[in-house]
Amino acid sequence: MPFSSLGLSTSLLRAVAEENYTVPTAVQSAAIPAVLGGGDIRVSAQTGSGKTAAFVLPILEQLSKRRREPGRFCRALVLVPTRELAAQIGERVRRYGRFLPEPIKTLVVYGGVSINPQMMALGGGVDVLVATPGRLLDLIGHNAVSLSTVSVLVLDEADRLLALGFSDELERIVALLPAKRQSLFFSATFPPAVAALADRLLHEPLVIDVAPPVQQPSTIVERAIEVDALRRTQLLRHLVQENGWSRTLVFVATKYATEHVAEKLRRAGIDAGALHGELSQGGRTEALAHFKAGRLLVLVATDLAARGLDIDDLAAVVNYDLPRSAVDYVHRIGRTGRAGANGVAVSFISAETHAHFELIEKRHALRLEREQIAGFEPEELAPPPPLVSGTGGVKGKRKSKKDKLREAAGQKLARPAPAARPMAPAPFVAEEPREFFPWSQRPLAGRRVR
Ligand code: AMP
Repeated sequence: MPFSSLGLSTSLLRAVAEENYTVPTAVQSAAIPAVLGGGDIRVSAQTGSGKTAAFVLPILEQLSKRRREPGRFCRALVLVPTRELAAQIGERVRRYGRFLPEPIKTLVVYGGVSINPQMMALGGGVDVLVATPGRLLDLIGHNAVSLSTVSVLVLDEADRLLALGFSDELERIVALLPAKRQSLFFSATFPPAVAALADRLLHEPLVIDVAPPVQQPSTIVERAIEVDALRRTQLLRHLVQENGWSRTLVFVATKYATEHVAEKLRRAGIDAGALHGELSQGGRTEALAHFKAGRLLVLVATDLAARGLDIDDLAAVVNYDLPRSAVDYVHRIGRTGRAGANGVAVSFISAETHAHFELIEKRHALRLEREQIAGFEPEELAPPPPLVSGTGGVKGKRKSKKDKLREAAGQKLARPAPAARPMAPAPFVAEEPREFFPWSQRPLAGRRVR
């Protein structure tokens, strides 16, 4: 089905053609006519499915045909969990709407930056407001915007909105919206709390469930390299240079480590940047832009900062610090080897972390061969397995839950180490944070590693 059959005007079709989109994705084919028809939709789709255009294009189509209200109007409201996603969507609205006969006023608002410019920009109203919930409520509190004229509400990545604790803010925002409105609900996963929110917000929605795009399977080679914790940065440098990795995303555990490792790489002559949640918005945007443009070879990031980012063509993902959970491991390695490309995912294993890595392997019924790189052989030895007595552990010390898990990991499945696993292009699998979603303990829902 071509784009021209979906009911979009020529100005939007021109923008689509300029983006080199030849055919609509599955979510676009289903959602665009439904949104133009005025109904609510509930969409299960991931980043990478083309979901942004699936709601932006028909919203622009509708807005370009309707008259504006005077005053501090807001016609379409898009709620998102993170600043990066807000910025990405705002950029798409501008690009897709740039040939419309009447300019569409778009504004992106999020916290962590001064509120005054946002208040000023809202003066005179806005057609499309892309916002994180907390900052939107602040702006409403300052009387900078009113939601009484919103005709379309979009919740994008609703599961992450809830996971990040925005549930109260969402309730307060929804209470300010007109009852008569169109609501478009997007989420990668629908655990009970998300499904309940969708039920409350949507009126007889069209349910669109888009299977992840079936593309050429990619191959992600997973490697586990033993190295002393103190030598990880040197090894990282060595690997980047030896393998000529063009674009490498390195995961570390803390904000401090992002800066520290990036700085050490820079001193060694590798263009590296840091990405973490406490960077100024300018700093985050700049680091990402440099990385995407290829000016940074290495981006050192925390999990949260790297979630949901649309970065293609990663040559390698490196677990400098191991992920805390097995689910995070899949999120991380799925960042490479996208869209039929091959990628490598390297995990650094040190004496302190080898037991933890075994647990991750166990959850994935996986056993990777441990490698050592010449010149970086570890000197610290892994601690011996815990002493187990018949009655429960070392005398005088009860076995902790962790000890029990480690024991279980000790009886690991002795599988041959696969050199490479084929992996369907898995963009970002929605976050299932343990703090908020008790059901996240279920084994690897949404995982597409074969
Ligand atoms: P999204 O899932 O909205 O984040 O989109 C993921 C990527 O797919 C973005 O880089 C879009 O520019 C791209 N994209 C969206 N729709 C299409 C399409 N119909 N054909 C090709 N690429 C697309």
